[in-house]
Formats: sequence, C-alpha cells, structure tokens
Amino acid sequence: MSMKTLPSKIDFLETEERWERLWEERGTYRYDWDDETRPRYSIDTPPPYPSGDFHMGNVLNWTYFDIRARYKRMRGYNVHFPQGWDCHGLPTEVAVEKAYKIRRSDLPPDEFRKLCEEWIEQYIAKMKTAVVRLGVSIDWSLEYRTMEPSYMRKVQLSFLQLYEKGFIYKGEHPINYCPRCETAIADAEVERLARTGKLYSVAFGVPGGELIIATTRPEYIPACVAIGVHPDDKRYSRLMRKEATTPLFKKRIPIIAKDDVDTGFGTGAMMICTYGDKVDVVDVARFKLPVIKLIDAKGNMTEAAGKYSGLSVTEARRAIVDDLRAAGLLRDEKPLEQEVGTCWRCDTPIEVVSQLQWFMRTTALTDKVVEKAKEITWYPDWMRYRLIDWATSLDWDWVLSRQRVFATPVPAWYCRRCGEIHLAEPDELPVDPKVTKPKGRCAKCGSSDFEPDRDVMDTWFDSSLTCAIHAGWPDRPDWHKLFPASIHPSGQDIIRTWAYYLMVRHLALFGETAYDSVLINGMVLGSDGRAMHKSLGNFVASPEVFGKHGSDAPRQWAAAGGSTGTDIPFRWEDVEYGRRFMVKLWNACRFASMRLEDYDPSAKTEPELLDRWILSKLERTVRDATKAMEGCDFMNASEAARNFTWHVFCDHYLEAVKHRLYGGGKTKKAAQRTIHYAIKRQLQILAPIIPHLTEEIYSTLYAEGPKDSIHTSRWPDADEALIDPEAERSGDLIIGVIGDIRREKNRLGIPLNRSVAKLTVNVDSEEKLTDLRLGEHDIAETTKAEEIELRRGAGGVDVEGHPGVSFTIETAA
Ligand SMILES: [Zn+2]
Ligand SMILES: [Zn+2]
Repeated sequence: MSMKTLPSKIDFLETEERWERLWEERGTYRYDWDDETRPRYSIDTPPPYPSGDFHMGNVLNWTYFDIRARYKRMRGYNVHFPQGWDCHGLPTEVAVEKAYKIRRSDLPPDEFRKLCEEWIEQYIAKMKTAVVRLGVSIDWSLEYRTMEPSYMRKVQLSFLQLYEKGFIYKGEHPINYCPRCETAIADAEVERLARTGKLYSVAFGVPGGELIIATTRPEYIPACVAIGVHPDDKRYSRLMRKEATTPLFKKRIPIIAKDDVDTGFGTGAMMICTYGDKVDVVDVARFKLPVIKLIDAKGNMTEAAGKYSGLSVTEARRAIVDDLRAAGLLRDEKPLEQEVGTCWRCDTPIEVVSQLQWFMRTTALTDKVVEKAKEITWYPDWMRYRLIDWATSLDWDWVLSRQRVFATPVPAWYCRRCGEIHLAEPDELPVDPKVTKPKGRCAKCGSSDFEPDRDVMDTWFDSSLTCAIHAGWPDRPDWHKLFPASIHPSGQDIIRTWAYYLMVRHLALFGETAYDSVLINGMVLGSDGRAMHKSLGNFVASPEVFGKHGSDAPRQWAAAGGSTGTDIPFRWEDVEYGRRFMVKLWNACRFASMRLEDYDPSAKTEPELLDRWILSKLERTVRDATKAMEGCDFMNASEAARNFTWHVFCDHYLEAVKHRLYGGGKTKKAAQRTIHYAIKRQLQILAPIIPHLTEEIYSTLYAEGPKDSIHTSRWPDADEALIDPEAERSGDLIIGVIGDIRREKNRLGIPLNRSVAKLTVNVDSEEKLTDLRLGEHDIAETTKAEEIELRRGAGGVDVEGHPGVSFTIETAA
C-alpha cells in the first residue's frame, strides 16, 4: 500500500467552506434518536435573538458550545446539539414599524405579526450563515423558531400546566413598568444605571411649623401616603403619630415610625409613595397604607395628579418643581449621584406601578433553585454564586404578561357576563384569543360570550423551556432520555435571566433541575480593553475576520484567549498566531506525508530513544489535554496541544529524525511508525478547536472512506505505558544539545546543511555521558558533524537549560 501525500498549497478558506458543505451533506453531526448503544449528551444551545450581526462575542459563545460538543462526540457520546432562534420581541416590532412607516395599531394583529415574521427571517438567515461558517457542529435537522405554531403550542401548554399546578396566577401587584415601551418588565430586565440626578428639599406642613423632606422624585408628592421617620430620631419625636400636609396638594398624611429610615440621608424624614421604588412597596404592605395609582398604562400622570394629570413623568416633575419654587416651598436643590433602575431595552427609567398582570410564582421556588445550583456542576465553579445570589435577591414573582404584539399570546379569555377566567384546552393550542373564540362555555355561569386576553408573554417565557423542548417534550414519550440537559452553555451576563428562568420553569413543571451542568463564557472586550461597542471604534464583526483568516484561526483565539468564564479581549495578533500555527501544522504534516509514502504499518519495528522520547511527551500532552477538556478548560487544552505540536514535535522531533527518514531500513520504519501514530493523535486533540484543517489532513492521511471523519473518531486515551521518564530525561538532553549546536552554526554563519569537521560535547557526569551516547548518531547526523566526540570535560559553548553540558565546533581548515 502507499500513503497519500498532502499538496504543497492549501487555501484555508476554500477548505473550510468545502468541509462545512460536506459535513452537512454527509450528516456527520446528526443525532441518532434510536441509538441505545452510546450514552446521550444534550447541549441546551440557547436560541439567540437574531439581530443580524454576528460579533466576536457570538464567536466566543458558539466556539465554546462547539468545542464541548465535538469533544463529547469524540468521547463516544451521541451528541444532541440543536439550534433554535428566539424570534419574538419588541425590537422586531419597532424595525417593522420603521420599515413600513406604520404603527402596529394600524394593522390587525395577525397581519402585523406576519410582517414581523418575514422581517426576522432575514436576520435568522444572516446569523445561520455565520454559525455555519464558524464550523459549529449543529445538527441542522433540529433547527426551530420560537415563533413557529408548533413551538408556541408548547409554550402555551406549559402555561396551562403551570396554572393547573398553581404556579401561574393573575393579580394586581406592583411591577416594573417601562413608560417608553409601554409594558411591564421583569426584575431581570431592569438595569442599574449610575447617573446624576437632583435632590430637592421640600417643605411639608406639620403642627406648629414645617418639616423639610429631601426627595429625588417630587412628582410623587400627589401619591405620597405617609412620612417615615426613625423612632429614635429625637428631632421628630414630637411629630410621631401626628399628621403632615403635602405641599401643593394639601393632603393630610400620617407620620409613622419606621426603623429602617436612614437618619443621615437628607433630613432623616422620607416620603412613602405608591410607588417611588421597591422599598415603598414593602412599606405600603407593612403599614397597611392606601395605594394611589399615579401613573397610567401609557406612562402618564393619572387623575390623582390633579392639575398635572396627562403629563408624562418628566413633564410632571418639571411642573411640580416650578410650582413648589413659586410657592416658596422648595428650600434647596442640589445634584445627587444616584443609581436608577432602567429598562434594559431603551434605558428609560422604570416606574413601579400596581397593575393587573399574569405572574409566575417563582419566589416560592427560591430554596429549590439554590439547592439545585449547589448540586450541579459549573464551569468555572464560582459562577454558581451568580445564580444563587440572584435567586435569593428576588422578592417579587416573575411578571409574565406583556402589552405587545409579536410574542406568544396568553391563551385566555374572560367571561363577559361574570368575569371568570377561561383558559384554552390543550387541544385548542396554539391559539391567539384575539383571533379565535374558545370552544367551551364559562364554567361558572355557562355564558359563551367572551372577551379575549390581549396580553402576550415575556419572550423569556418562550426561551426558558428549551431543556424540555429539545428533549422532545411533550410529544416524544421517551423525552426523559434527554432531560435534564447535560449542559447549559451561556454568557455570564445572562445567568440571571437564562439560567434562572430555565431552572424555575423546569422545577415548577417537572420538579427536576433543567440541566446537569452550566458552562459560562465571559464577555469579549475590544483590543483597548473596553467592552466592544460600535461607537467606540473597537468593534469587530465576524465577516471581517472570517473573510481574512477563515474560522479555524479565530476559534483558536476564542479557545486560548483566556480562562473559561473570564472576559477576553479580541486581538488580531491571536488570530494571526492561530493562522501561523495552521501553516506550521500543514507544512509538518505535508512533509511527513511525503516521507510516509512507503510506510508499511505491518512492518515490525522497535522505537529508538528519540521515538520513545516524543511518544512519552505526546502521551502526557494527551493526558493534559483530556483533563483540561473534561473540565471545559479550553485555554489549557489548546495551549497543551498547540505547544506540543509546534515547539516539541515540529521544531525538535521532526528535525532530529529527518536523517532517518531520508535513509532506510529499520530506523526509518521506526520513525515512520512514530510519526504516523503521533500525527493522528495530535490532529485528534486539536480537532475540537481546529475542526476544518484537522479534518482535511485526517481525510487524506487516515480516513478509511468518505464517511470516516476525525470528528466521529475516538478521542485518544493517554497510553500510560508509553510514558517513560528515563527516555524523556535522555531525550531532553540530546534535543537540547542538537538545538543549541544548530543555533550556534546559525550564529557562526554556517548553513545548517553544511558539515562541520568535528564536534566535541563535554559533560560533567558519567550519567549524562551515558544519556548522550544514546543519541550520538542523531546528534552527528542532525548537526552534520563529520566527527563527533562525547567526553567528560568542560569548555566551549554552554547548552542552555542543561548545566554542566557544553560543546565546541571545529570547522575544516
Ligand atoms: Zn423600555
Ligand atoms: Zn361567566
């Protein structure tokens, strides 16, 4: 037999795109639902919201998902690696309104929805192209969209089941409200932004004088229901249990003792309003205060604001401040550094308002979430506290309903006669109650006259069911085989949403953890160390990188750029290093393929010292890479593999055995066998990180037929029997001597292929002399020494890293 050789030239980009086509054609990454022989491994790929961009943060995410998928596949797992698209949401509605110059209320909801569906498809197409181009080993037969009727049916079904189990209720509760987006938002969607506000000192009337209160929200004076002072605050003991009069509105409100008032802030007296913030919500319940609805569904002041009704919150503040000033009731105003809760989509400060909404009883599950977060595996381990801290910080249930269009409808109607809630039956799903009437009659009064629920659901309610849906719930009877998900990979910024909602949702529905492990990636920073952003000029999009260097090179940046979970900067140099590594790997493999043309795998050979040396180091590298891969430590896995290939195998071993490969006989056969074995293993441990190039080389040198892919080959187990510390000790010395002699020849201006008359190597011990003698022939051949003497002695050039070893070179006269 004869081995095939690699061509001298390779076009990385063409090669990558060819393999992406071939993998899909051959179904290399198909999940086998019926295979009972291999263990299953399910990856809960988070369905992204398709924005049309694929930036380097996305490259980092998907490279992490994919390295894990490829590694597990090579470990013999039947890997379930789906890809979905999270389609619903306000950004699409806004984009459609702009593009068609309409308002969403101009069209019937189902027609507006159709436009949104068409719009999002173009973004999905762009994003899918990028995921494919990155070489991600998705099983595309599992692709789905959360806007599909079949997906919405499952989301609505889970709504009905959670309602049945008592985890979903409709009620009037304080919620976070974005006046700009005109919708309720969940705690997870509220971001804390630092900004400079103003602190106003306002005079309230009290018996026998006035009381000054410092507030940042004077527009809340009409909804002020009490004044709180600390029970031990001597300044106010005479006012305790008396009444105050609000400025401008002249309303009488109680002054109450409240032990958590910060006596050092302002004057130590504070307004309690409905609701200035979340603290007010607690106080209102605690002191049984009345609730005044100050802000309506459009974010404007209600009748309760008197002459200010109809104004927006900001307008009302300005007007009230002006009137306070005119009335002589504004005693001071000064800037204040503060943190305000803002809407994550539009940065508008949120308002806390009391509204009738749908909720999921998530706070009841906090203990369970903490328990599961402690049980499961986290990569890296400390990330578990992000979830625990978030879950225990929540004091409100999850508000599920949203006042929007492009989302999954709440499957409910209300009886027009008696007001009873009427939920859809499972066989009516998916349903949009605004379009379809319910089948049955009101359970309470028998009427068939219904009013639809016009709300839709939080898009997180779509995407937090993936662990079950990926597994085949509710239609596949065997869905438990893939549930809980083996791993949920995610970014550190979405632990509080994605990881949290998945966990509460699946715990509530099935009483089980959603996933058995979590893999967290950090954020990508610009090369200047700041968060990557289009406006900062440090933004890099993937088409630019893919167009220049393909995807195997940036994948190496993603894997090796930093330890798992930490933020990593995007550096072109790292991508270029990755590309240089690929050139090195290709050239080494091509050289080897030419020297292996007459390789006979059946020939009997004995490995020589340097063969045993490289095999020992190789097996230790395999051991290190395996350990790192097991722990999702992609940085150390790629560093171990790349350093071995480049700086041990290519730079030293191949150089030292060239003379044997150009010769013949047993020594050549032993080198051939070693190289054949070593290259295959190197390709395999690099394959999850550099999937295209390793496949290209493997397919030429090792594959038995077109179906044989490196990615379905078995990940090598380190062969401990080959680990040989003695061979490593002698080999290190011989390799060190060869390297330094070659460097010295270079320094002296002697071409490496020109011979030297005599080489003398001096060592200071008998043991080193014995070691060195094992490589006498390799040293002489590799350095082109016509005569070589190894002896006890000193003098000449010192060999770096080997004290007591030196050499002299004599050139011919
Ligand atoms: Zn908003
Ligand atoms: Zn009724």
